[in-house]
Amino acid sequence: MRILVTGGAGFIGSALVRHLIADTTHEVLNFDKLTYAGTLSTVEEVARSNRYRFVRGDICDAQAVRGAIAEFRPEIITHLAAESHVDRSIDGPGAFIQTNLVGTYTMLAEARSYWRTLEGAAKEAFRFHHISTDEVYGSLGETGLFTEDTPYDPRSPYSASKAGSDHLVSAWGHTFGLPVLITNCSNNYGPYHFPEKLIPLMIAKALDGEPLPVYGKGDQVRDWLFVEDHVRALRRVFEQGQPGRTYNVGGNNEKQNIEVVRTICAILDRLRPRGNGASYAEQITSVADRPGHDKRYAIDASRIRDELGWVPAETFETGIEKTVRWYLDNEDWWRPLVAARAADRRGIEQ
Ligand code: NAD
Repeated sequence: MRILVTGGAGFIGSALVRHLIADTTHEVLNFDKLTYAGTLSTVEEVARSNRYRFVRGDICDAQAVRGAIAEFRPEIITHLAAESHVDRSIDGPGAFIQTNLVGTYTMLAEARSYWRTLEGAAKEAFRFHHISTDEVYGSLGETGLFTEDTPYDPRSPYSASKAGSDHLVSAWGHTFGLPVLITNCSNNYGPYHFPEKLIPLMIAKALDGEPLPVYGKGDQVRDWLFVEDHVRALRRVFEQGQPGRTYNVGGNNEKQNIEVVRTICAILDRLRPRGNGASYAEQITSVADRPGHDKRYAIDASRIRDELGWVPAETFETGIEKTVRWYLDNEDWWRPLVAARAADRRGIEQ
């Protein structure tokens, strides 16, 4: 199949592109604006494949989107391009409204125009798959899980913009009959994660002997999913999912942020000891909490398991070990990004 991936230079999009080129026979067009969050070094290992193409473009630019679709003639559009960092959405929500809402509208409008020109089996097979987050559901108390029927209750400008984009996708399905799919996934981690997000940030700071800043008491709970498990779920959904349906994707790995940071420190203590018997955990410090910080997210992923047979291959323990090892082995990928970002110091994504 020909698969157009928006945001294929970002963290999850690039994992999807690498998977599709390395493990399938699908063709891929990566459409990405290359914002601060996207770099082609994430897809370098597959870029020479004759099944891979890249177009630099903005999803808000209807003409650019139309041109890419007309030329590539995708059978599937997987839409991942977004502004994705909660802290940045608090500092400057405008870009989130533009890319996540106007950009998703533009993708839908252009996908629909193209889909209407298709006939027979090609029209039948076409899918528009929107990749979204569990943050649209709001925050949980001590118990309970997000299901696909949980009412939307977004709390940050980021999650509100993603909730809005989900509603647009769903409306294009209901109103215009566009064959849409939506997945809402929990927090991802793994290789090529940008070093301003919690896990890579902590690894980088630990290695540099800097304080490890944890919001408040670090008792916020997230349900962590290894990124390669997420992209296997995405493929299962766009290949076999039922149009019009939403699927929650999660790893069944609820952890408090402080536990995540302590686990990283323990792995580093083993793999790259600081010497003189000191532990990286001594670098942990508490910083003022994020405004409106959601307390707990947790996913019920039984629909995608029961209907499509997807289950994650990694536990948190195996995934975090792979991730820490990857960051130790790939300092030349993340060090230049850390240096570039030091200029505009950011908080932490949790
Ligand atoms: P990311 O920030 O790492 O990557 C986003 C990519 O989109 C970048 O390559 C960027 O250059 C590109 N982009 C941004 N604005 C664009 C525009 N206007 N036009 C074209 N390209 C543009 O994000 P990610 O973590 O890979 O997330 C991908 C998607 O998955 C997002 O839609 C996000 O909401 C969703 N998601 C992320 C997580 C997570 O834990 N990271 C969890 C659930 C869902």
